[in-house]
Amino acid sequence: MSEPVVEAVDVVKSLGKGAAQVQALKGVSLALRGGELTLLMGPSGSGKTTLLSILGCMLTPTRGTVRMRGRSTEGAGPEALARIRREHVGFVFQSYHLFPTLTATDNVRLALDVRGENSARAVAKANDALARVGLAHKRDAFPLELSGGEQQRVAIARAIVGAPSAVLADEPTASLDGENGNAIMTLLAEIAKDSSRGVLVVAHDARILRFADRVVHIEDGCIVGDRRGDAALEKDQSDCAVRHDAEQHERVER
Ligand code: ADP
Ligand code: MG
Repeated sequence: MSEPVVEAVDVVKSLGKGAAQVQALKGVSLALRGGELTLLMGPSGSGKTTLLSILGCMLTPTRGTVRMRGRSTEGAGPEALARIRREHVGFVFQSYHLFPTLTATDNVRLALDVRGENSARAVAKANDALARVGLAHKRDAFPLELSGGEQQRVAIARAIVGAPSAVLADEPTASLDGENGNAIMTLLAEIAKDSSRGVLVVAHDARILRFADRVVHIEDGCIVGDRRGDAALEKDQSDCAVRHDAEQHERVER
């Protein structure tokens, strides 16, 4: 069984201050494995974005641990966390987050620039990534010259160009019609086939269930379901405080 690429262990996350403080995560453990597309589903406000941000080292846990490729991020300051993100994580967002004044190639190259790679080789890598998402012919186009689906492909190329351990996508199909949404999910599923990479997709839409190797349900800051492939592997974790026993753990992790 492969090591998790990234793992949250017993993570509690409080957000906000004073009376407005909420516990967005109430003791969540989730390990992403390479070669898998995990779908994270749950109602609005259940903690999906918070969990994705914790796994991507954009937020640090209030309690608990995050391990990236087996190494704890505990005690890492903002600089160290930024380095971990640059090296290990590719993010994809609902609203693409492309720079309007940069071409597709330059938007993708940006992910390499921040790692100090700004040579001709970086351009070649950026164009390879664009070819992987089917946009070799659009490398000189600006975001506004591209459809929503194409812009999201550029964002995916930017997420994978640095060969990250984890690709974390927060509702990547929410702004797209069904056809474009399916094309994006097909692409993310393809990217997840690489055994050195785990892909986590946050989504509401039950139509994209078929692209997932594993489906995790979160409600009110607790993971309440975790299922792989066939329903026989279903695990119920109705209470965060309840630790599932080792045997059950083994079963769920194949
Ligand atoms: P989801 O992505 O599932 O919709 P989030 O992870 O964004 O949920 O939010 C989880 C909970 O944390 C919600 O109750 C939300 O209102 C709250 N929350 C999110 N961000 C903040 C913040 N910066 N300050 C205070 N509360 C927040
Ligand atoms: Mg969200």
